[in-house]
Amino acid sequence: YADAAMYFAKRSGRNNFRYYSKDLTASAKQRLTLESELRRAAERMELELHYQPKVSLDDGAMVGSEALLRWCHPRLGMVPPTQFIQIAEDTGLIVDLGQWVLREACRTAAKWNAAGMAPHKVAINLSARQFQSQNLAGVVADILNDTACRPEWIELEITESLLLDDNGKTLDALSELRSMGVSIAIDDFGTGYSALSYLARFPIDTLKIDRSFIQSVITDHYGAELVKAILSIARSLGQQVVAEGVETIEQAAFLAAHGCQLAQGFLYSKPMPEAEIAALPRNFSDGYPTSKALNLEG
Ligand code: C2E
Ligand code: MG
Ligand code: MG
Ligand code: MG
Repeated sequence: YADAAMYFAKRSGRNNFRYYSKDLTASAKQRLTLESELRRAAERMELELHYQPKVSLDDGAMVGSEALLRWCHPRLGMVPPTQFIQIAEDTGLIVDLGQWVLREACRTAAKWNAAGMAPHKVAINLSARQFQSQNLAGVVADILNDTACRPEWIELEITESLLLDDNGKTLDALSELRSMGVSIAIDDFGTGYSALSYLARFPIDTLKIDRSFIQSVITDHYGAELVKAILSIARSLGQQVVAEGVETIEQAAFLAAHGCQLAQGFLYSKPMPEAEIAALPRNFSDGYPTSKALNLEG
């Protein structure tokens, strides 16, 4: 990421704009260039999905993965999504990019499940724009059909903010997707302006506890209590919980002991290209904490 990081550090050095108007012009130009390059990235085959395993904390089985978009820029190298997704959202490009991601992820989910990796659920990130500017449920239905992917092989990850600026359209789209058999997850749970009422109002299957909470479960008493409270709410509402950003054995052991069902993070694997995921062992039980192992010991 070195080249790309330098490039974006320059581009987003907001404080300098006031003092160096030349930089402002250069930066605006760079953004325009990047926008038009992003527009053509798909057809130039510069986009790729990487996948990060989701692991059952019950028995260590790899039960799914999250698809994460990668842009391999010819000059800048790997551009991190935290940098280009925002541009794609601002310009509306995310609608086309998002459809490319959906199609590609469904193709992979169909391939993996047909090849005996079953059942393996692929999670796909969605932006609010994708709900506003099209009939999302229809788009997803067409893509599932084209790729011979079953609805239960995918999960859609949305953020809390989407539910907050709800205009009725979001609820309709989510309900329709849900009735098709597609599951819905709240990503980065706990970091938005949480209005807990939406947990009951919207059709939600899964909560993904944000990495910032997981980081604090071992080091901070309040962090641990917060995660236990989230697990308890989810249990009462019948929702499944995924812990994201799990990096240590201690974090995984805490989560397994408190009934969190799934974990995702560098402890298990970084996001990797499709072929590398398919080559991984299907089970992370050996040396990894699971509630099964904890019960056997206790
Ligand atoms: P996210 O959906 O919350 O994805 C999880 C991010 O955390 C990924 O970053 C992943 O690489 C990173 N991560 C996973 N495990 C660990 C860990 O143990 N430690 C640390 N430090 N990080 C971990 P990534 O791939 O850079 O993606 C960043 C964000 O970009 C995503 O956050 C998501 O909001 C967005 N994004 C990525 N792909 C897409 C896409 O296809 N569509 C949309 N709309 N957004 C996407
Ligand atoms: Mg996500
Ligand atoms: Mg997340
Ligand atoms: Mg997050």
